[in-house]
Amino acid sequence: MPEFTEWNALIEACQNCRACGLCETRTNVVVGVGPENAEVLFIGEGPGENEDLQGEPFVGRGGKLLDLALHAVGLDRRRNIYIGNSVKCRPPKNRDPLPEEQAACAHWLENQIALLNPKIIVCLGRVSACRIIKPDFKVTREHGQFFERDGRLLMGTLHPAAILRDPRKKSEWFADFVALRDKIQEVCDHTELADPAEFA
Ligand code: SF4
Repeated sequence: MPEFTEWNALIEACQNCRACGLCETRTNVVVGVGPENAEVLFIGEGPGENEDLQGEPFVGRGGKLLDLALHAVGLDRRRNIYIGNSVKCRPPKNRDPLPEEQAACAHWLENQIALLNPKIIVCLGRVSACRIIKPDFKVTREHGQFFERDGRLLMGTLHPAAILRDPRKKSEWFADFVALRDKIQEVCDHTELADPAEFA
C-alpha cells in the first residue's frame, strides 16, 4: 500500500517536502504533469533551471522538442501521458543529484507509479533508464526496446537534451516514439491517441 492513496494528498505533501538539502535552493518542487489515469509514464532525471522556475518538467528547449516528438504520434502531456522526474527538486547549477538526495526522493516516484499503475514506463535519458530498467542500460544500443517487468513494459530512449546536442540522432529518436505509439495501441486500454494534425 503506498503512503498516499490520493493524488491531492501526494502532491501537497511532495510540494512541502524538506527531506533533503535540495529544498534549500529550489524555487518549486516539480512533482509532475499529466492526467492521473494515464497509462503511459515518462520519467526524466530532475528539474533544470526552467523547470524549477515554472514548476513543471521539460519546459525548456528540450521540453519543446519532447512535445514535438510526442505530438507527432498523438501523445500530449495534458491529455494522455504523465511526465515526472526521479528527483523533484533542482540540484544547484544542474549538478547530478547526490546518492543521498536520490534515495530521499525515490519514494515520491514510487508512490506516483503506485497511483498511476502505468502499463508503459518510458525513461528519458541514460540516468533514468539505469535507475528504472537496469543499472547497465546502454542507451545507444538499447533505446527503443521494451523490457517486461512486474506486468509493465519499460522502454528507454534518449534525453531530449542529447538530441539538442546532436540533431543527427533525431530520426532514430523519433523512431522510438513510433514504436511507443504502436505498443500503446497493442497494450493500453483507454489511451486515445490524438490526431497529430491537431498540434500543427
Ligand atoms: S528533492 Fe525530493 S526528497 Fe529532496 S526536498 Fe525535493 S522532494 Fe524532498
